[in-house]
Amino acid sequence: MRKEVLLHTCCAPCSIYVGEFFEKKGFEVVHMFYNPNIHPFEEYRRRWEALNDLVCKTGRKLIAPFPYNPLEYFSVIQEGEGRCPQCYRLRLTQVARWGKEHGFSFFSTTLTISPYQDVACIQRIGGEVGSDFGITFLGVDFREGFAESMQRAKNLNLYRQKYCGCIFSRWEGVKRRIWKSLTGRSFS
Ligand code: SF4
Repeated sequence: MRKEVLLHTCCAPCSIYVGEFFEKKGFEVVHMFYNPNIHPFEEYRRRWEALNDLVCKTGRKLIAPFPYNPLEYFSVIQEGEGRCPQCYRLRLTQVARWGKEHGFSFFSTTLTISPYQDVACIQRIGGEVGSDFGITFLGVDFREGFAESMQRAKNLNLYRQKYCGCIFSRWEGVKRRIWKSLTGRSFS
């Protein structure tokens, strides 16, 4: 059996720790950049270029078989409330489907390193999607490696984004920064 993992990758900083985790377990890591949620295109391009920088350093494979198309995101998400599970499902479904069609037995995601994501929800959806397509989801909780991964990204001078990705999260980030600058307190 091929010991490769198709790793859905949201960005370079998160993939440092996650990629190494799988390599230590004996997997060859293939990064797949599929993130139609990212807004705007300039932000997408910066994350893509940072990931390219990282794979140049690590020698791993990076693929992006689907061109940037934010309409894929907006075809499943029409409002800000409760959007994240649909966003996870959209991305993991595409990765699982593509992986199965191209002979992968395992897939995973860097999303579960983030303390800002709903890791249990990602694990559940990944498992469901994996069952649907006949490919095993390796839903590891990587959160203990988040701080290390971010520090190493900083040391490597990799681009580190300030919001999750979608237009809603960008606006929420702006609101938080404005609130803090006006009140000196965090937005609750
Ligand atoms: S906040 Fe992040 S996970 Fe949630 S919908 Fe936006 S991009 Fe997707």
